Amino acid sequence: MSVKRDVAAAALDMEGDSKRRNGSTQQSTSEILPQKEPTEEQKNRMLKQSKRMKKLLASDPAAAEKMDYRRRVGMARRDDDVPTALQLFTDIQARNIDVGHEGFNALIALLTTFERQAEAEAVLTYMREKHVPLTEATYVSMMRALALGSKLQKPEAAEALLDEMLSTGQRPRLRSYSPIVVGYAQQGKINAAFQLYDKMLTHKIEPTEVELVALLKVCGEARREGGKEGGGKKVEERFYRVMREMQELVLEPGEGAWEAMKEWFATAATPAAEEVKVTSGVVIDNKGVCGECGQVLDSIDLTSQASGELLTMVEELVLAEPARAGDWEMFKSWLEGGRESARTGWPEFDVVVDGANVGYFQMNYAQAPPHVNYEQISWVVEHFERRGKRPLLVLHARHVDDRKIPPEYVGLVRGWRERGLLLVVPYRNNDDWFWLFTTVFKGGRTLLVTNDEMRDHHFQMLSQRTFLRWKERHQAYFSFGGHERGGGRSVKIEAPAVYSRCIQGPRSMKEGSGKEGGESWHLPKAGSEEWMCVQVRRKDGEEGVNEEK
Ligand SMILES: [Zn+2]
Repeated sequence: MSVKRDVAAAALDMEGDSKRRNGSTQQSTSEILPQKEPTEEQKNRMLKQSKRMKKLLASDPAAAEKMDYRRRVGMARRDDDVPTALQLFTDIQARNIDVGHEGFNALIALLTTFERQAEAEAVLTYMREKHVPLTEATYVSMMRALALGSKLQKPEAAEALLDEMLSTGQRPRLRSYSPIVVGYAQQGKINAAFQLYDKMLTHKIEPTEVELVALLKVCGEARREGGKEGGGKKVEERFYRVMREMQELVLEPGEGAWEAMKEWFATAATPAAEEVKVTSGVVIDNKGVCGECGQVLDSIDLTSQASGELLTMVEELVLAEPARAGDWEMFKSWLEGGRESARTGWPEFDVVVDGANVGYFQMNYAQAPPHVNYEQISWVVEHFERRGKRPLLVLHARHVDDRKIPPEYVGLVRGWRERGLLLVVPYRNNDDWFWLFTTVFKGGRTLLVTNDEMRDHHFQMLSQRTFLRWKERHQAYFSFGGHERGGGRSVKIEAPAVYSRCIQGPRSMKEGSGKEGGESWHLPKAGSEEWMCVQVRRKDGEEGVNEEK
C-alpha cells in the first residue's frame, strides 16, 4: 500500500508540475481537489464565491452538474477511491457530462496508479471519442503504467503513445521517456532501450541515475546471457559509454549503480584470461590509497572547458544588472592583468578567503557588534601567512570603509591593503560572485575558505553538476580552536581530500612485466564513507576495452 501511496504522491506532484509549466491558462487537477484545512479567510472567500457560484449555476444547471462531477472525481482521486471513480465514470458516460481534461486526467491518474489498466484505457478511448484534448499529463500516466506496470509491461505500447504525443507537438520531458527506457531495460530489450535513450538525448533531455542504472543493468544481463540481443563487443561499448555518462552526471552513485557494477563484473568477458575482484565497503585513507588494491585515487578537477563555462555563468548573473558592468570590467582586468604578468606573480595568491563569512562566523549572539569580527578575519589571514601561503581576502567595500570601521581596527585593515592582500568588492555588488569567480579563474589548487554551503538560490542558478564538482575540490572549511599566546585563536582548516569523491575508472592496472594488464574502478556511495573497488586483471596481456588515459 505504501508503494502505491508514493506513486499517487508522485502523480500528484506531476500535476503540479504541469500546472507550473502551462501557466494559469489551464486549470490543473489539484485545483479541483478540496482544500484540507481552510483558514477563516479562505472559508469566507469560499462562502462568497459559492454564493456567487450558486446564483450562476442556478441559471445554468449543466454547468453546475459538470462542476459537481469534477469535484467528486477530484475527491475520489484524493481518497484513492477506485470504486467511486468507476461509478462516476459510468454516470459521466451515461449522462454525457464533460468534466474536461482535468477531470479525465484525474480518473486516469487514479486508475493507472492502482494498475486498473483496462479501465484507464476505457477513459482514454472515451476522451478520444469526445475529442477531449489529451495533455502531457494524460500521456505520462498512461505511458508510465504501460511501461512499468507489474501486471502487464508493454513498453512498446507506451512508446507508441509517446510517438503520438510528440506528433501533437507536445514537448517531451524526462518523465515522458524515463519509464519507457527503464521498462525496455527491465525486459532485457537492450536495443530498444538504447534506441529510445538516444532519442531522448536528441531532445536535449539530461538523463538521471534512474535511466543510467537501468541501462547498466540491461548491459550486465546481455553480457551474462550472451549474444541474444547484442552481446560481445557492442554491449561492452554500451556499458562503457553509460559509465562515462554516469561519471559526468552523477557525482555520488547510489546502491543501484553498485549493484549494476557487480552484475556487470560478475560475468567475465574472457573468463579464461581474466580475474575479477569486486569488493564493497572499502576504505580510502586520507592520502587517497585504496585499502583493497593499494592504488592511489586521483584528484579530478574541472576541465578548462567546464571551468570556463562556470565563469561565464557567474559573469552572466553579475551582468544581469547592467549598472555593475563598469566595476566588473575593472575587476576582470585586474585578474587578467595578474595572469599576463604571471612572471612577476601578481595577483599572487593561492587561498581566497570569504572575509564576510569568516567575519560573521558565530557572531549571531545577542550582544554581537553589527560589524564583521575583524580579529577572526585576521586570525585566518595570519594562519595562512605563517604557513607560507598567500591569502587573498575578499571583503565588501562597506567592511573596509574607514568611516565605518571601529577605530581600533582601522590600522589592521590598512595593513591588509598595504600588503596587497585585499580585494574590495564595490558597492552594488555581491561579494559571493567575486570570491567565486576569483577562485575558479585562478584554478590550480587554489582554495576557497568559507563555511558557506553555497545553497542560496543564486548558486542554484549555476549548473549544479559543474558547480558541485568544483566545490568538492576547492572549498576549505574553517573553525577556531584554543587561545594562543599573544592573543588570537588557533585556526583549523579542513581542506578538500587529496582525491576526488566521484566515480574513478577505468584505470589501467598494468604491472611491471607489461605482460599483465587490466583495469580498476573505484566508486563512492551516496551518503556513505564506503567505496567499492573493482579489479580486473587480464593475464594474457590483452588491453582493457575502451581504456581511458
Ligand atoms: Zn581499489
